[in-house]
Amino acid sequence: MDLFHYRGGRLFAEGVDVERIAVDVGTPVYVYSRATFEDHLQKIQQAYRELDPLVCFAVKACGNLHILKLMAGLGSGFDIVSGGELYRVLQAGGDPAQVVYAGVGKTDEEIVQAIQAGIGYFNIESEQELENLIRLVERHASGSKVKPKAALRVNPDVDYRSHAYLETGKKETKFGVDIERAVAVFDTYGRNPAVQLHAIHVHLGTGGKTIDPFVDAVKKILPLVDRLREKGHTVEMLDLGGGYGADYETQTVPSAQQYAAGLVPLIKGKGLRLVLEPGKSICANAAILLTRVLYTKQGGSKKFVIVDAGMNDLIRPSLYGAFHFIWPAKTDPRFVPTTRNKDLHMEGNEVADIVGPICEGADFLAKDRSIPPVQRGDLMSVFTAGAYGFTMSSNYNARGRAAEVLVEGDSFRVIRKRETYEDLVALER
Ligand SMILES: *Cc1c(COP(=O)(O)O)cnc(C)c1O
Repeated sequence: MDLFHYRGGRLFAEGVDVERIAVDVGTPVYVYSRATFEDHLQKIQQAYRELDPLVCFAVKACGNLHILKLMAGLGSGFDIVSGGELYRVLQAGGDPAQVVYAGVGKTDEEIVQAIQAGIGYFNIESEQELENLIRLVERHASGSKVKPKAALRVNPDVDYRSHAYLETGKKETKFGVDIERAVAVFDTYGRNPAVQLHAIHVHLGTGGKTIDPFVDAVKKILPLVDRLREKGHTVEMLDLGGGYGADYETQTVPSAQQYAAGLVPLIKGKGLRLVLEPGKSICANAAILLTRVLYTKQGGSKKFVIVDAGMNDLIRPSLYGAFHFIWPAKTDPRFVPTTRNKDLHMEGNEVADIVGPICEGADFLAKDRSIPPVQRGDLMSVFTAGAYGFTMSSNYNARGRAAEVLVEGDSFRVIRKRETYEDLVALER
C-alpha cells in the first residue's frame, strides 16, 4: 500500500498535491510519505508478533536523518553496512543496541567505532573478520562488562532467481560462509571470551518475488542450529536479513503477512530471537521522484521524453534494468492509471523512452514505455523510488543531488536541501 493517489487527474502525496511541492522546491525532488513508512513497518511488526521480532531497517536503502528518526520513533532498529551509516543512526537518535552491522569489508576504524557505540550484533562475513574483531575487542574493550555479540553470516546456497548483481545467498558470492564451514567456525570461536558468537545471520539478496527462497533457507538453517546446540554452542538469535519484495508493480510480491505465514511456523518454539532487516519492502513505495519534461523529440522511429532527473538521481534502471512505473503527475482523468504494471497500456498512449540529461547512453529511466502524451514542462512521477534512490545518487556531470521532501498529512517539509554549485566544489576549496 502507499499514499500516492490521483484525485481528479492530479497526483497527491497523502493530502498534498505534488505539483505544489514541485513548484515550491523545484525538480528533481524525492517526495516521501510518512504514513506509508509507518504502515509498512507496522505491518511487518504485526505479522511476526508471535516471535517478538526486532525489525532493523536497512539504512542503505534510505538513510535520510529525518527518515531514520521517524523509524526509530516507531521502534525500529537498524541494519548498517558502514561506519557512516552508524554515524547517521546515532545522529538520528537510534538505539545502538538495536543495530546490526553487516558488510564484507569492515575496517578496523569502523569496527572500533561500533564496539565503542555498543551495537547489538556484528554480522560476521568471514573467519578473518571474526579474528580481527576479537583482536580489536581485546585491545580496545577488554575491560568492558558487556561483551560484543556476533552473528555468523551463513550462506545457505539457495537460488534467489533475481538479477545476478542482487544475489548474495549462493555459494559463489563474496558474502558469508558455507553451512559446512559454519560448524567449524563455531567450534573455533563459539566459546571465545572476547566476543559472544551466539547467532546466525542470513541475507539472500534482493528482488525475488516469492517466499520460497526464504523458506528453503530457514529449512537449511534450523538443522544447523540444532547441530550447533548439540555441540554445546549457544544460538540465541536468527537474523533473516532483508530482501522481501516491494510492489514495483501492483501486487506482484508477497505481503509481510504472507512471508510471515510461511516463516513463523518454522521458527516458532525454537528458542530463537528473530531479527529482520527489511529495506525496500518498507521504503520503496514510500517515495516518488518528481521530474519535469525538458524536451520531447523523435529519433528515427523512437520517441524520446527528456526529463530533468537522470541516472545520477536514480540509477536503478541503468544499473539493474529495474522497472519504475512512470506517469504524468497531472493528466486528463481518463488517463488516470488503473495499475502500475509494466504492460499497462491505455487508449491514446504513446510509446517512448524516458531519458535523463546525462551524457551516457545508459542514462534512462524507462525504455519503450507506454505513457499518455506529454510535453515540455509537464511534471512526471517516477513511482516506488524510495529505496536505493537518493542513497545511490551521485554528482556525476556536476549535478547537485536532488532535494528530499517529507509529506505528513496535509503538509510537507524539506528534509534535505537541493545541493548547490557551491556544495559541489566546497571540499575542493
Ligand atoms: C541490502 C541489505 C538489506 C536490505 O535489503 P532489501 O532488499 O532492501 O530489503 C538487509 N540486510 C543486508 C545485510 C543487506 O545487505
